[in-house]
Amino acid sequence: MTQAGLSLLTSIYLGLFAGGLLFFWLWEDGAPLRPFPDARTRRLHALRNMGVLVSVIVFADVVVGTWILGVGYRLLDTPTGLLAPLALPVTAQIAIAFLVTDLFEYWLHRLAHTWRPLWLIHAVHHSDPHVDVTTGARNHPLETAIAITGRVGIYLALGLPLWIELVRVIVVNSAFLAQHANVAFPRAIEALRTVLVTPAVHRQHHSPVPPLIDRNFGQMFSFWDRMFGTYAEPGAPAPPEYGLRKLAGERWQTLSGILLTPLRARSIPGPL
Ligand SMILES: [Zn+2]
Ligand SMILES: [Zn+2]
Repeated sequence: MTQAGLSLLTSIYLGLFAGGLLFFWLWEDGAPLRPFPDARTRRLHALRNMGVLVSVIVFADVVVGTWILGVGYRLLDTPTGLLAPLALPVTAQIAIAFLVTDLFEYWLHRLAHTWRPLWLIHAVHHSDPHVDVTTGARNHPLETAIAITGRVGIYLALGLPLWIELVRVIVVNSAFLAQHANVAFPRAIEALRTVLVTPAVHRQHHSPVPPLIDRNFGQMFSFWDRMFGTYAEPGAPAPPEYGLRKLAGERWQTLSGILLTPLRARSIPGPL
């Protein structure tokens, strides 16, 4: 990978993310799967989730990813890790990186649903009562920081070049936006669920109640859920209800309410 190639990838990354947000936002405007009560509620919801995204960019991407882990400076390096002596072709390195990183994300997500300190952080993604394209960007900055640190650790341990993660993030971010988009996708897209986590598959995970909230943990590939017994075939494009019942009030939906959820929700007994 050259510096010019890296600049191109960065432009694609930013362009696809911004373009994807706008594309689905306009599609949702014209043909929503589940309409918002009114336009003002929709705009306020989007504004708050975009506020969360800004906090993720500042804390997780810039402070942790760039300053602490130095990802920006390491992107062109090939670290000396487990697989480095094999001098694998780039295609094999990409395939391994995609699979191993997705498996890591699957188990991190499962841990986030069973270990309460991590659940209080991850709950921010689940507490959204209106799942739409902006929900794809609603993750607590601490959760993103933990995931980035783990993924960088995997690349360094395996000796895989970090620019592959930039390629992976381009794909995964596009998938995130699609998985949360509040639109009805063509059947051909949903037919991909044998291998990929399609929007209908992921939406089941946003149900507030078991068993669905504890199903479909996969990020990109759906076969981990099938392999480890956590897959739920979508019976409908979306579950009857979204969100977390104890975090549905306004107090939990403002920008500060979302960011402070891991602290404030500690005192709530039982499931959220
Ligand atoms: Zn979850
Ligand atoms: Zn989600």
